[in-house]
Amino acid sequence: MTKVRAMVRAVRTRIARERRTDGIRRAVLEDRRRVLARRRAFGSADLEALDGILRQAEAVIPVRELVALSPERRSPRLVVLRHDTDNDIENAVRFAEWEAERGYRASYYVLHTDWYYRDGFAGPPTRYVLRALERIQRLGHEIGLHNNALTVALRTGRDPADVLATELAYLRRHGFEVVGTAAHGDALCRACGYNNGEVFVETPRPEHGPARRTIVCRDPGSGRDLRVELAPVPMASLGLTYEANFIENRYYLTDSHGRWNRPLEVAAAEFERRDAFLKFLIHPSWWAFQGEPLLARQESVPASEGQPVS
Ligand SMILES: [Zn+2]
Repeated sequence: MTKVRAMVRAVRTRIARERRTDGIRRAVLEDRRRVLARRRAFGSADLEALDGILRQAEAVIPVRELVALSPERRSPRLVVLRHDTDNDIENAVRFAEWEAERGYRASYYVLHTDWYYRDGFAGPPTRYVLRALERIQRLGHEIGLHNNALTVALRTGRDPADVLATELAYLRRHGFEVVGTAAHGDALCRACGYNNGEVFVETPRPEHGPARRTIVCRDPGSGRDLRVELAPVPMASLGLTYEANFIENRYYLTDSHGRWNRPLEVAAAEFERRDAFLKFLIHPSWWAFQGEPLLARQESVPASEGQPVS
């Protein structure tokens, strides 16, 4: 009898884990939440310190608005706030709410290759990610695309510009006016020597080679040989106006790898100077919004575990 009960319980658990929430399997959702909750590096004191700087700004604006402002019309105390959603779309929503409560607006670049975006390798975005993005946009933020097109092209043989066109069409069809992208630093970028922004004529990366070239490399994960013909296209051909890594960087702060690239206090002092203009790149996945325990700051996090790098 006990054995039968145990079997019934096991079957019920399996069925429950196969259930879906807005197109995402419960099992995947629960696993990801559990993993992400163990990998927070910034807590409430850090949010307070961040707020301390943002409060000094005359305006905290998304990248799209900075691009639209001519330099002479920019306020001297301007903060431009960029978020790459990477592997944590739920924390992106939490960050968006935290900012909206304080009157800050930011850009959120959604990663079209991460676990929450679609079920499988092709097809439209999940209801789960669309709901998150709708919430973020309704709070007054910008939605952009975290571009991983060359990675997809290498792995699937598709045309990189076509990969972008497909994702942009999906997002625009759902009411997101996407005009900007931000290149994602996928692990494959380092292995194969490319930057996802190289898909555009306007954002070449000569350090990786000529703008038009064939990228050939071996996938360190699968051992498969990968190849793509790089033939950059103008951003305008995809209805885009900017690439977030190529906007002016007067003073740049990022939480990549779970620590600030320079001390926040130094940035705060710099910001008090009249000509200061700050750009933040913040990855929501590093931030504890629900009282999660924090990683020790010096703790290194293996890149293979999918933490954001750019
Ligand atoms: Zn990224």
